Amino acid sequence: MTDPRNAPLAEVDPVISDAIDNEVARQANGLELIASENFVSEAVLEAAGSVFTNKYAEGYPKKRYYGGCEWTDVVEQVAIDRAKEMFGAEHANVQPHSGAQANMAVYLAAIQYGDQILGMNLSHGGHLTHGHPMNFSGISYKVADYGVSRETEQIDYDELQRIAEEHKPKLLVCGASAYPRIIDFKRIGEIAKSVGARMFADIAHIAGPVAANLHPSPVPHADYVTTTTHKTLRGPRGGLILCKEEHAKEIDRKLFPGVQGGPLVHIIAAKAVAFGEALRDDFKEYQRQILANAKALASELQEQGLRLVSGGTDNHLMLVDVWMDGKGITGKEAEKALEAANITVNKNTIPFDQNKPFVASGLRIGTPAVTTRGMKELEMQEIGRLIAEVIHAPESEEVQKKVRQGVDELAARFPLYAKRLKARTSEREAIGAS
Ligand code: PLP
Repeated sequence: MTDPRNAPLAEVDPVISDAIDNEVARQANGLELIASENFVSEAVLEAAGSVFTNKYAEGYPKKRYYGGCEWTDVVEQVAIDRAKEMFGAEHANVQPHSGAQANMAVYLAAIQYGDQILGMNLSHGGHLTHGHPMNFSGISYKVADYGVSRETEQIDYDELQRIAEEHKPKLLVCGASAYPRIIDFKRIGEIAKSVGARMFADIAHIAGPVAANLHPSPVPHADYVTTTTHKTLRGPRGGLILCKEEHAKEIDRKLFPGVQGGPLVHIIAAKAVAFGEALRDDFKEYQRQILANAKALASELQEQGLRLVSGGTDNHLMLVDVWMDGKGITGKEAEKALEAANITVNKNTIPFDQNKPFVASGLRIGTPAVTTRGMKELEMQEIGRLIAEVIHAPESEEVQKKVRQGVDELAARFPLYAKRLKARTSEREAIGAS
């Protein structure tokens, strides 16, 4: 009998093994348009699944609280060096388990409990960690917020200056989860300086275009920059902090031991691999295509009669107003109807939303994942038509069925994780499962 410790997952734990196989099939056979998701390379997956998951390594390279860290040090130092090179940053901390934890370390390093912060309102595109009352940031600090103007649905920098002067924040937080336009980090830096605030830019969504010089970088202007590594950057789930050298010690201390314990060394290894990929020339081309695809998809959706918040997009995502002042459907209904057609998106509030966040008036749609599959502008037009068909007839099972066929064809033309999918199919055939 095989020693169960050496047996394959399918034998040891068929429930989990099956769920993983089914998830491969779901990702490969559907259209992934969630703006914060992507598909990592086989190399990133291999590093993330490596034996580094076994290692404790509290501390930082060459300064650890555990023995046996010589290979961990290699991995973490490579990740740090590549992160610095990617963004031209003075210091990088690659240990945050997530974007939220990276942000927590920045708050702890930059300000004291109870201090005033100023962040972008969640319903205008900001993130929970930028001061939402349910989040540690809103619980621990005094929060003022800014948003977009009613007319342009874009950040009104004059108004931001006015709010900053009124509230005199210690920390000015910028960056967004659902904002389709270029963010003027230089201007925000000037506003922060003018009121004596430190500047913190969270580029979780736009890190890829920033690394590829296709979006202005906050690095020269901000005291602290954080990002997730799993969105446009196309790495494993995780976070990253960049800062000026003067803040380096405090950031490192606040992340560990302030926020986290032992780092996830396997994930740091996968980050290093993804950062290596991001330093290659083809990454810039990939980022360029993400943006070109977003523009193509945005115009097709407009062509099909749908309204986009702010009238379009400059980045990898767009916000579709499906509610249209009560003449359309809710974001929740649109998300559900599209899911039935194997198109995955998320409902999202739009600025000045008339619906509650869980219902929402909009959809957030992004192109990073479909661009990874190799799709280009022509496919975006096709996808735009498929989305519009469903949104215009959200109750019609017939339309959903027809669109599902369109999705199947597209997915088949742009294979994903083909080897994994094939292995799953052969295994299932061998045991007679569907
Ligand atoms: N910051 C922004 C702008 C985000 O969009 C997100 C995630 O969506 C986060 C932070 C949090 O990242 P995580 O989910 O890894 O904690």
